[in-house]
Amino acid sequence: MAKIGVIGTGYVGSVSGACLADFGNYVICIDNDEKKIDALNKGTIPIFEPGLDAVVERNTRCGRLSFTVDLPVALGQCNVVFIAVGTPPADDGGADLLYVEQAARQIGSLIDKYTVIVNKSTVPIGTGRKVTQWIKEELLKRGINIDFDVVSNPEFLREGCAVYDFMHPDRVVIGSESEKARSIMKDVYRSLYLNETPFIETTLESAEMIKYASNAFLAVKITFINEIAGLCEKTGANVRDVARAMGKDGRIGSKFLHPGPGYGGSCFPKDTKALSKIGRDYDEIQHIVETTIETNERQKIRAAKKIENALAPLNGKTISILGLAFKPNTDDMRESPSISICEYLVSLGAKMRVFDPAAMKEAAWRLSHLKDSLFFACDEYDCMSTADALVIATEWNQFRNIDLLKAKELLVSNYFFDLRNIYKPEEVISAGFKYYGIGHQ
Ligand code: NAD
Repeated sequence: MAKIGVIGTGYVGSVSGACLADFGNYVICIDNDEKKIDALNKGTIPIFEPGLDAVVERNTRCGRLSFTVDLPVALGQCNVVFIAVGTPPADDGGADLLYVEQAARQIGSLIDKYTVIVNKSTVPIGTGRKVTQWIKEELLKRGINIDFDVVSNPEFLREGCAVYDFMHPDRVVIGSESEKARSIMKDVYRSLYLNETPFIETTLESAEMIKYASNAFLAVKITFINEIAGLCEKTGANVRDVARAMGKDGRIGSKFLHPGPGYGGSCFPKDTKALSKIGRDYDEIQHIVETTIETNERQKIRAAKKIENALAPLNGKTISILGLAFKPNTDDMRESPSISICEYLVSLGAKMRVFDPAAMKEAAWRLSHLKDSLFFACDEYDCMSTADALVIATEWNQFRNIDLLKAKELLVSNYFFDLRNIYKPEEVISAGFKYYGIGHQ
């Protein structure tokens, strides 16, 4: 049976490690962040991810899952090592491989038997070959020759339903030329393999490309409907009906056709930028992806301008923002449209009251540069109290059912910006608000 090490215990590593243990594997999760590992060893999950605590609890209790900062001891026990470290954007837009290189070199300096090294981080095409090279260099320094294989196994989980996604993936992609490594990977994912989950076996390069192409395609789809929403506003069409009818076409599909204030998060913004950089490096410009990146930036500002146009001048006005995470069911605020919206409105003199059910701790440092103009509210009603306008920026379930009459009483004016189109305009209007959605009158 495979004994698995997972290097990096963030959103992807913690979920992958816990779920792989739930599949019956022995898993050791390693991170160099002592605080994170201490918390996990005490049963505290450092991120907000529904359902993860239960999977961690049941697998640590039966001894299949453990957490450590001690990489040498962990690697001594493992024959499969996942790399799940961050690949943040570098200054030139490409993926910064610093953490991947560190992890690969650490592996090369420590392994003492045949090991399968599995790259789960999202990395530029060609990184699998680089990982092989970095490990070989470290083995050379040690003057030894140990057999190993590198596999690309990109991850497609969505924050907010990551546990479900990991356990019920649409497909598992395994990129490797080694028959031995592929067979070990099928063992690692035995429960999915037996469940007839589609396994795509391919080369390292294709596996790496699949991840970027998939994320970029989804970013393009969101951006497309955002642009159509803008045109709907000008022409009198209603994007809700347009998207619903488009989505019924089996060739198009209904997912990712919900207009909003632009995509954010830890993946789409950085992966589209990285793919565009790869395109430029290979002199094969990815025009659609590059346009998507620009259009998405405009969409965030367009949402903020909608508020400005209705309320101007903003100086002396207070705006209530409900939702700071880039989407519901996560505390992740990386590249969240709420950040751009707050920055824009504050730059015009507005005061902000903000609330998110999970991301307040994140917000405290990610919005610290605006702190003189920001009030951190303790719930949605506290957030809207004394505000001139209410803005729904993230579609958390608890924001779908606001007591509109109470809201109207708490606000000092009556502007309602539904940037996620979660309310029926007539309901909001009949409660006494001026309603502004996305892509409809
Ligand atoms: P993250 O920043 O949440 O976690 C990365 C972790 O790696 C951190 O805890 C960090 O301390 C640790 N780390 C870095 N170098 C280390 C080392 N040498 N040894 C031990 N620990 C180390 O990142 P994430 O969101 O989990 O993303 C990881 C990768 O997965 C990225 O490439 C990302 O693009 C990809 N991905 C993310 C998602 C997502 O929804 N977050 C989904 C699919 C793929």
